Amino acid sequence: MKDYPIHPACDLIPEMTPDEYADLKESIGRHGVKDPVTLCDGQVLDGRNRYRATKDLRLPCPTVEYTGKKDMVSLLEFVLMRTKRRNLTTSQRAMLANEVRSQIEQLRGDDDGPRRKAADKGEGQSSHSSRATESAAKLAGVSERSMARAKQVQEQSPKLAEKVVKGEISLGAAEKALKKDDAASTKGAHVAPTVTDANGNDVPDKLVSVFESAVLAELAADVRAIRKRVKEIRSERIGTYIHEQTEVDLSNVANAIQFAKPFALCAYCLPTGLKGCKACRKSGFMTKDVFNAVPKEARG
Ligand SMILES: [Zn+2]
Repeated sequence: MKDYPIHPACDLIPEMTPDEYADLKESIGRHGVKDPVTLCDGQVLDGRNRYRATKDLRLPCPTVEYTGKKDMVSLLEFVLMRTKRRNLTTSQRAMLANEVRSQIEQLRGDDDGPRRKAADKGEGQSSHSSRATESAAKLAGVSERSMARAKQVQEQSPKLAEKVVKGEISLGAAEKALKKDDAASTKGAHVAPTVTDANGNDVPDKLVSVFESAVLAELAADVRAIRKRVKEIRSERIGTYIHEQTEVDLSNVANAIQFAKPFALCAYCLPTGLKGCKACRKSGFMTKDVFNAVPKEARG
């Protein structure tokens, strides 16, 4: 079997965890490789885990040739886009998107020479860098704000950033660790709480208030109070004809309201809230029941 080296652009993407790899290998052992590995000039550009699994299993590895533009920026963008199918957390995606952005900026900066460097010294972001941010955010499916947070963690502590890339800690946890360091040295910095969903993914800003909302819990409590009142009245003469089922119904209503609460970010349009996403009714989040009905491979 032919040996393919890994393309440098592909090297950017974190390896699967041993568990993830074991799952992939098992699936490939059973069904073969469904999604061919993408080669670029004889190097693995996308699918190195699939490639590794076929090698381990001594199975044939289907390949396709990359047909896009071959400059490094295009290759990095392609690799980043392909990570969408991987089971990476929002934090990991944000770190990756930031890494790709920084590489793209370097590449473009080198192309443009000193003029570009001068522009960089100005305040604010140059149009080049904001365009790189925008496209990397889009390709990775993360918000530009998450990328800005990733950038800050990367700059302040490459060690923590590494942990986020590997999926060991979330971006929020890294920020907390940094703030703790900060507070220890300067004292009294305000720590912004980070909200995560049931899968440990950072909740995007626009959904934080939804995830933190107590409205449904309060409403459910109100309904339960009514149920209790109904129970009391049923024991009085006036309540003679209220059926026991009414109490049961009210209890079901309370539960239905309570379990309509957000459990996880939508597995399909996370985290930007795809327009018209039917899976989450355009809300961007899923309840526990809805999320549990999502096929395992689609969960992000
Ligand atoms: Zn959705």
